[in-house]
Amino acid sequence: MKFMKKVNTFRQNFAEKVRHTVSPEDYTCLICGIEIFGGRLCKDCSASVTFNDGAACPVCGRRTPRTEVCLECKYRRPDYARAVSCFVYRGGGAVLVSLLKHGKAFVSDWLAEMMCEKIALLPRADAIVAVPMTRKEVKRREYNQSALLASKISRLTDIPFLPDAVRKESDTPEQKGLSRTDREANLKKCFKAQKSAVRGKAILIVDDVMTTGATLNSLAACIKRSGAREVYAVTAASVELTKSREPRGYKRLLTLI
Ligand SMILES: [Zn+2]
Ligand SMILES: [Zn+2]
Repeated sequence: MKFMKKVNTFRQNFAEKVRHTVSPEDYTCLICGIEIFGGRLCKDCSASVTFNDGAACPVCGRRTPRTEVCLECKYRRPDYARAVSCFVYRGGGAVLVSLLKHGKAFVSDWLAEMMCEKIALLPRADAIVAVPMTRKEVKRREYNQSALLASKISRLTDIPFLPDAVRKESDTPEQKGLSRTDREANLKKCFKAQKSAVRGKAILIVDDVMTTGATLNSLAACIKRSGAREVYAVTAASVELTKSREPRGYKRLLTLI
């Protein structure tokens, strides 16, 4: 009996060692790496993440002071019907996105799980696409973090992921100093959608982060032009919209109406 107990203990320890080697993130905080017991983040890192669960714009999903359509969406309705996101893009939420972008692919499991909770708030999509990268960009980064999230979300939701339905054919040109319209015009030229893959379908775009929304909007416009019935979007994080982010000229426009 004593011998069997020893064998079992050895087995358990061995199994634990193997799990540690295979997936060390199971036992450590995803952000700072300290050992934790349960959950995916330690107490301090968890406190540094602002979950996007309060007031948000019902269209772009970015956190707002009150739950109402934000000024940017009022000023110009996006080409996607609705977007949702899990965290505010600052503190721990920004660190998680940065880790995913810079080789720490293991954070994608948890991010994908969190994103599925948000996707449940949207009408069910027929297919998933990821914001594409050019071959050069994928080579530099080793993987497309949005495609990684998209394939995991597809497995969790049973919504098919179409990795070849959208392509990015040229690098994003220098966007500094350009207006939002010019940025989008620039990006629109980069994206191509396969008509046969998206026609008549409700498509869910997956990306890691939404800041100005120019990328998501350009891709949504491209997918719609190619015949998609509707487009939704989900990102792990998105910026918070404060009053200072009112689009230029919006107040003047209001006085003219
Ligand atoms: Zn931590
Ligand atoms: Zn909005």
